[in-house]
Amino acid sequence: MDIWIATSNSNKLKEFKDLITGKNILIKSQNELDYYTSPEETGETFFDNAKIKATSFYKTLNLENGLVLAEDSGLVVEGLGGLPGIHSARYAGPNARDTENNAKLLKMLKFKSPNNRKAHFYCSICFIDAGGEVKEYTGQLDGQIAKKLTGTTGFGYDPLFIPDGETQSLAELGPAFKNKHSHRSKAFKKFIADLPL
Ligand code: IMP
Repeated sequence: MDIWIATSNSNKLKEFKDLITGKNILIKSQNELDYYTSPEETGETFFDNAKIKATSFYKTLNLENGLVLAEDSGLVVEGLGGLPGIHSARYAGPNARDTENNAKLLKMLKFKSPNNRKAHFYCSICFIDAGGEVKEYTGQLDGQIAKKLTGTTGFGYDPLFIPDGETQSLAELGPAFKNKHSHRSKAFKKFIADLPL
């Protein structure tokens, strides 16, 4: 079974590929279509944006038996009124790098909410099946924002996120922990469990 994933994010793709190891599924991505350009993420929720990405890719692929999946995810910080939320990838500006987003997050928390550092990662997967039916699968990982970056694995806000019950950041805990507990793995496992395999 082929599943097309509407992302060019190699970190997310690797996480998805790790999760289907041993299953009869081949993951393909928009990286294989050099003419494809991602749509603008103009939605107001994670699901809006996941659906915009999935629908645009579904139309472009025009598959007979297309299974198309897109996800939108981000970091929701309580003391910042839910920011960066759907703006996580571009928190420090349109082409911001992870280091710039992390630096802005630390600065904003120091200024607005130095003591309440509660946060969660959220993932919404939008799946469009062969008949064009749209479904959503979600996952969440709760934790705290650290006062400094630690660890070298992963991407995005991983070096600043300490999951509840842990003392290390996601960037220290590494891929094995993320494959078991991350927002994306939880949503993706619900999706896999629903597939007629
Ligand atoms: P998207 O590609 O538009 O869904 O943006 C997702 C953004 O949220 C990423 O660029 C990261 O900044 C952040 N993010 C989502 N998932 C993770 C994760 O597992 N670890 C760290 N940051 C993440």
